[in-house]
Amino acid sequence: MGESIPRVFVPSVTEENGGTIALGCFSSEETAWQVLRAFLKKSEQMLLESSSVVIWDVDIVGEEAMTVLSTMECKDCPVCGRRTFWIDVDNFSALCYVSACSAWIEENTVDPEIIDCGWPTIRFLKQNKSIDEAVEALFRLGDRLKSVGEERMDETAAESILEEELDD
Ligand SMILES: [Zn+2]
Repeated sequence: MGESIPRVFVPSVTEENGGTIALGCFSSEETAWQVLRAFLKKSEQMLLESSSVVIWDVDIVGEEAMTVLSTMECKDCPVCGRRTFWIDVDNFSALCYVSACSAWIEENTVDPEIIDCGWPTIRFLKQNKSIDEAVEALFRLGDRLKSVGEERMDETAAESILEEELDD
């Protein structure tokens, strides 16, 4: 067998105005993801639109050298409202990168028909029939947080929100 072609992993983000921010060029996929995730955690003050990790095969001319490994889009977080909710468009999952929030949506690991969503702050977890339903559940949670006032978001308030969700 021939030698494997050297390849590099290139994470980048695109700003709303179309500008691209290159984050470097790495020999391992793992490092590329680490660098990208670290950047996204601090992206709160920027207006970002999308991010990607691209594999480039070295010493190959043209577009065939390029493979898009992952693309993510940035939206306003349904729970905290910050523009830090990153959606993986290829295999659907989403996460708010503000660590104080960390709202998420993911396919259920056992049953792919089920879409889980959650908000770790109050151990909120809900199973949904569709992505839309999961997004909606997070929006409802965000609305309730706004009405309660985040500073008063203590255990009691959290429990009442959880109970209301179960009643739905
Ligand atoms: Zn959030």
